[in-house]
Amino acid sequence: MIQITVPLNFLGSVYREIRQALVDMGEMFGLLGQPAEIADKPGAGALAVGGAEVRFEDVHFGYDEERPILRGVSFTVPAGKSLAIVGASGAGKSTIGRLLFRFYDVTGGAVRIDGQDIRDVTQESLHAAIGVVPQDTVLFNDTILYNIAYGRPEARFEEIVAVAKSARIHDFIESLPQGYRTTVGERGLKLSGGEKQRVGIARTMLKNPPILLLDEATSALDTETEQQIQGALARAAEGRTVLTIAHRLSTVAGADEIIVLDAGEVVERGNHAELLARSGKYAALWAQQLREEAA
Ligand code: ATP
Repeated sequence: MIQITVPLNFLGSVYREIRQALVDMGEMFGLLGQPAEIADKPGAGALAVGGAEVRFEDVHFGYDEERPILRGVSFTVPAGKSLAIVGASGAGKSTIGRLLFRFYDVTGGAVRIDGQDIRDVTQESLHAAIGVVPQDTVLFNDTILYNIAYGRPEARFEEIVAVAKSARIHDFIESLPQGYRTTVGERGLKLSGGEKQRVGIARTMLKNPPILLLDEATSALDTETEQQIQGALARAAEGRTVLTIAHRLSTVAGADEIIVLDAGEVVERGNHAELLARSGKYAALWAQQLREEAA
């Protein structure tokens, strides 16, 4: 019996790892686009994470040589602080997320985590340090328990309940006929966009990464959903270094620092109040959003 179960368990864990990688990739495609082939440096060691300071140093990048997308982008997110990246569509916001994940290498400058150039460490250790909350969470046709536990399959039930509570999804789950054992996904109960996102937040919290990359939803959500998601994200952000790619501005007001990207360059930086007072690009984007919301 032992001879059979051991290999089966082993295969089970390999299978889970492969599926985990596929899910991570699936979620990435939305946020991060098609990754290029990037190899680990020979002898690359694991990323040593302390507080998880994220630094972009004079980063230059283009998907092809003729067309630069980022042109000398620099910023530092101190350990445990938050940075929001705003700017018009196509300014290069999501590209910054892709570079942090090292789906592409910079063509100039460097991306560092706690001082280490991410080109010098294994991608496995880099990806383990970054949790992504995508706009659209991928759900399996499986129980909601399984879907959350995906962030860490060996987690205990109490840990899953704890992250579900933090992600403001526990009460909803308890209200389902079979609670955590309810099947969700295409062939099960269909969750709303906001519910799915909170499952995604719970899943990421269970993974417990020191760095969070948030891809803020493009479409406006109703106020209650927005508040629930904001509450969940605020809990998820506690004690972590957070980069938010903000397609709308509603959620960035509380960020420690906001950078405004325009055609691949940082044209303004500061907190919400400072940027509004400057009456520049950020103030204009903010006014535009208020007008759109009113309409
Ligand atoms: P949005 O708010 O609309 O998502 P963004 O600021 O996140 O925009 P990016 O996705 O970073 O913009 O894209 C910046 C530029 O890079 C765009 O002009 C885009 O067309 C281009 N781009 C993005 N991905 C690729 C790719 N895989 N290959 C070539 N060009 C790309």
